[in-house]
Amino acid sequence: MANGDVAADYYLRQPERPLSKGRLFVVSGPSGVGKDTVIEQFLPMMPGILLNVSATTRPPRPGESEGDPYFFVSVADFRTMVEMDSFLEYARVNGNLYGTPRAWVEEQRGKGIDVLLKIDVQGGLTVRTKVRDAVLIFLMPPSVGELERRLRSRSTETEEQITTRLLDARSELQQIPNYDYAVMNDDVHRAADLLRAIFLAERCRVRHEGSDGSASVPWTAPHTHE
Ligand code: 5GP
Repeated sequence: MANGDVAADYYLRQPERPLSKGRLFVVSGPSGVGKDTVIEQFLPMMPGILLNVSATTRPPRPGESEGDPYFFVSVADFRTMVEMDSFLEYARVNGNLYGTPRAWVEEQRGKGIDVLLKIDVQGGLTVRTKVRDAVLIFLMPPSVGELERRLRSRSTETEEQITTRLLDARSELQQIPNYDYAVMNDDVHRAADLLRAIFLAERCRVRHEGSDGSASVPWTAPHTHE
């Protein structure tokens, strides 16, 4: 059997999970765009995807606990983890450090499980350079004016923080061309539906573009009885 035939045979027998390695999805977007709400809506629609739990130096907010939604660590511990190369990426966001645990992500992907990272735009760009086949999705607001309205209505930021968030948002929006997909969050249900469409399409993807423009198929056809 020619190699192409082996590949086709493999796909036909495992149409729902043609790749052996789990995919890495990243959802980023400016502060206040609604990442948490959209992902909360989306996750029950796509069973089988695991949401990463990052480490942060930010203190827990009321209702948060260890591992939900973060591992809360000291700055010293975070620095040790950086030195041990424990993070796939890390960044300072709004004055606190946040990092994605590399080992956990790799372990899940190794088991064929898709992983979702909900991280800031700098973090997304780092993942882009480190994980060539990561799928980067930018969640964008309908306008900067609407983002300002959302930031004000949640009443969690001071006036000074809102000004900084909006300035950051303007430069983050310029990074959209470095993402694979842009989804506008003008309606939570619609945005969650679009995420689902992207995930489904990506699960069926065969070809991946390399950074040099070359295409590759990121799996090896298994041995078959001929
Ligand atoms: P919050 O503390 O409000 O939950 O999150 C603040 C920001 O940090 C959000 O934009 C969130 O997506 C981002 N964030 C959370 N975890 C990580 C991470 O591991 N890496 C990066 N780069 N950003 C993160």
